[in-house]
Amino acid sequence: ATPMSIISGVGRAAEFGVLVRDADALQRASELDTLVFDKTGTLTEGKPRVVAVEVAGGHTEADALRLAAALEQGSSHPLAQAILDKANASSLPTVNAFRTLRGQGVSGEVEGQRLLLGNAALMHDNGIDTAPLAQAMEQQARHGSTPVLLAIDGTLAALLAIRDPLREDSRAALARLHSQGYRLVMLTGDNQTTAQAIAQDVGIDEVIAGVLPDGKASAIQALQRDGHKVAMVGDGINDAPALAQADVGIAMGGGSDVAIETAAITLMRHSLTGVADALDISRATLRNMK
Ligand code: ADP
Ligand code: MG
Repeated sequence: ATPMSIISGVGRAAEFGVLVRDADALQRASELDTLVFDKTGTLTEGKPRVVAVEVAGGHTEADALRLAAALEQGSSHPLAQAILDKANASSLPTVNAFRTLRGQGVSGEVEGQRLLLGNAALMHDNGIDTAPLAQAMEQQARHGSTPVLLAIDGTLAALLAIRDPLREDSRAALARLHSQGYRLVMLTGDNQTTAQAIAQDVGIDEVIAGVLPDGKASAIQALQRDGHKVAMVGDGINDAPALAQADVGIAMGGGSDVAIETAAITLMRHSLTGVADALDISRATLRNMK
């Protein structure tokens, strides 16, 4: 039988816009020591914008943007929308042999040219020398922008720096969680330098970066194997396996349906303040039972 105080704890959470699946989830939430956050759309707004374009090999900014946007027509990644918005073209050339390279970028042929668009790992895997834009890439990443590289016919052509602002309440919510003694971790497919810059800005001291979509759940499992009780906070389809693997999965409201269906706790508002509220209530409820 479920003690009354747990049932009232679940009800109290609902008043704070926190939907707790069952009594057991509230109990597990009270025992957590490590909170893992997805970056894009959870800590950040998930509305990235192109903030700078640098070119190499004699290409123009306009042409690089047009080709990159053409390629991104076939992608549903948030970065794709940022590039399409920046190009702001009424018509774009068609793409042949389009491919999504999960966790790395996209490729295809446009106007007879072979295009590759994505992170540095994608370029390195395809033998493309990133040296001409390495310095610009490093500088953008250190400021928290995600560098997206374009290669045309096997040669580096451009760098698009893309920035996704922090949610306005992320810092305050994380400061609250930090003062409660939780270990805070960021988990992202983005590169280490960008992830670290954003982590520092938002108040997270531990970063697991460069994780392929399939690797998020194993990253959670590795923390659990070290003896930690782990919550995963995320919003995307990509996050669902990690939400399921965690001791408590927490889905951001307004995120993907798959994330919400998988999570033990759903925040009605798309705000990290709800995580701090949920954990406060879980601890208070379980304390009252002792
Ligand atoms: P996350 O959602 O944490 O950014 P992803 O696995 O979706 O992680 O992507 C990892 C990285 O791969 C991105 O930061 C970006 O550099 C690159 N990437 C993925 N998809 C695209 C795309 N459609 N266009 C450009 N770059 C992409
Ligand atoms: Mg996300």
